[in-house]
Amino acid sequence: MRLSLRRFRLTKAVPLAISRGSTAAVEHLVVQLDHDGSRGLGETGGFDTGHRAYDTDAIAAELEALAPRLEGLEPQPLQALEPLLASLSPPARCGLDLALHDWWGQRWNQPLHRLWSLDPSACVATSVTLGLGEPSAVLARLERWRLQLPATRIKLKLGSPDGSEHDRALVQAVRGALRPGDLLQVDANGGWDLATAHAMIPWLAEQGVALVEQPLAPLNDAAADTAGFAALRGVAPIPLIADESCWDLADLLRLAPHVDGINIKLVKCGGLGEGLLMARTARRLGLGVMLGCYSDGGLLNSAGAQLLPLVRWPDLDSHLNLLDDPYEGPERQGDVLRPSPRPGLGSQALPLANREVS
Ligand SMILES: [Mg+2]
Repeated sequence: MRLSLRRFRLTKAVPLAISRGSTAAVEHLVVQLDHDGSRGLGETGGFDTGHRAYDTDAIAAELEALAPRLEGLEPQPLQALEPLLASLSPPARCGLDLALHDWWGQRWNQPLHRLWSLDPSACVATSVTLGLGEPSAVLARLERWRLQLPATRIKLKLGSPDGSEHDRALVQAVRGALRPGDLLQVDANGGWDLATAHAMIPWLAEQGVALVEQPLAPLNDAAADTAGFAALRGVAPIPLIADESCWDLADLLRLAPHVDGINIKLVKCGGLGEGLLMARTARRLGLGVMLGCYSDGGLLNSAGAQLLPLVRWPDLDSHLNLLDDPYEGPERQGDVLRPSPRPGLGSQALPLANREVS
């Protein structure tokens, strides 16, 4: 098989600020695999969880170095490629894994969720994200989302560098703007210390917040990272979700006794192979699955959407906030995203004229 890469820019319609900083645009890679008359595409790019960071140039260099080794290999069976995939960083593995899965779906002329026998009618509404900022700006962002889609599930970023009083002001402002039936969830992105988390989580539960993601900073010391979640167990009767601390199946098994759910992101776990395994395992263990994104485009989120029938808390809104995405995202009805019925990942290149403009 022949591997080639293309870089492209993704510019956000509205920049997103979280506890670690703000993002207005990113550079991502399209990973293209050609073999025996069929083509598979994947998308990947750099990201930063606070304790681990990957840069798009380094991911491109990893994949470029791999290309000559792929020349003599075939995209199927995927099992034969597992040692090679395991040698890559998670985001480089994700790009290749997605292109291999897309090639497989194209070859059989079926979308992946159908090859896995998942049920698209099980998909539920995605959350839309409100970044950190002044309350008036955060409410203006909510109004902008509501012009685009129903926005019944709202995810508010907390962990403000301005402190927990600012977090509380944001929660109260957004609560005041909720409509009947809307659900509010929060993501601290590791921005709290243990004392702040102990104070905030019961207060958030009193405010009717539905769940809290990653209260404490993720740690490379796995035992210390697990101890942080264990110290928050039972603090409040709302689901506690691990995101930056949970990269792969091993993290899921480590954290399972201490959390109610995990946030799977394809660039973090290394693609659809690990993502499907994690989603199935989490459900079997009685945990809820969130499926999230970084500044990912329509091709990456179309891949993620193939798992949405297994997901309780979809959080796949990044492609809905892009000005120049070259690829189409998942199917959307209102604020419910579903995997496309087209083969493979189900995405397709958008004509330039169709791209959203601000
Ligand atoms: Mg998160």
